[in-house]
Amino acid sequence: MAKKASRSRDVRRVYLMTDLEGCAGVDDWDPRHADYVNTARYVYERAEMQRLLTAEVNACVEGCVDAGVDEVIVNDAHGAGRTILIEELHPKALLFRGKMRPYWLIGLDRCDAIFHVGMHAISDTTAGTLSHTMSKSVKHYRINGRPVSEFDISILIAGHHGIPAPFFSGERLACEQVKTLAPATVTVETKEGFSEQCAIHRMPSVVCAEIRERSAHAVDEVRKGKHAPVAWKGPFTLEIEMREPSYRPEDAGPGKTFNHSRSMSWRAADLVSVFNYAVYGKRPKAR
Ligand SMILES: [Zn+2]
Repeated sequence: MAKKASRSRDVRRVYLMTDLEGCAGVDDWDPRHADYVNTARYVYERAEMQRLLTAEVNACVEGCVDAGVDEVIVNDAHGAGRTILIEELHPKALLFRGKMRPYWLIGLDRCDAIFHVGMHAISDTTAGTLSHTMSKSVKHYRINGRPVSEFDISILIAGHHGIPAPFFSGERLACEQVKTLAPATVTVETKEGFSEQCAIHRMPSVVCAEIRERSAHAVDEVRKGKHAPVAWKGPFTLEIEMREPSYRPEDAGPGKTFNHSRSMSWRAADLVSVFNYAVYGKRPKAR
């Protein structure tokens, strides 16, 4: 059940959703699938990305702690499930990570606000560095006909739980895009994208200082009632459109429709149920 959307609230526990591609200093894909994966170049590149993300995550945790937050549940959500350097994380953080994640946002419903760090733009944003939605093989996720980014989905799921999304850092176009869904969001730009694999970066030290300061500010703003949860009305249809043929007519079933070889749609009364059905194959319980 969605909690009532009261605006002013205390913030004791923050959920920190993270990704790699939106961090300052990152302008190439995670090399974990590259053909040079067993080389020194791979080790160097991956370790650099891990340090860059971990520093931005720590800056956000520090800002929350500065503002009196007790605990930050960090979701190591980038596809590898093991990108953040746990030994370097702030002691007030808890880290959710691993490969066989039963649900995307484990622990979210225990928190008072969701923050985002390392965010990239929605798929097919030409100038957005490393833009994609969930996977490079996906063209679009659409909820009730509207294309949604990864952060749109997490913000809307948080909204389902009555939780606001007051803070966001990432590539410049991602910062612009989040404001179309949640205009009050406090943003920190990490870089300005020009194509899939290039950007003008701000320096990590500058970005981290700003993330720390603006995260603390975002916590204060939630306490002052400046951030309402973003929740859409159900029922929900989630369409996944792939770039290549991926579906067959026989994949259709109760609450799921075969549109064409690259597109399927799933239906459910609420957003968490439709997401779990489409992404994890968990069929919603009949009402
Ligand atoms: Zn991503």
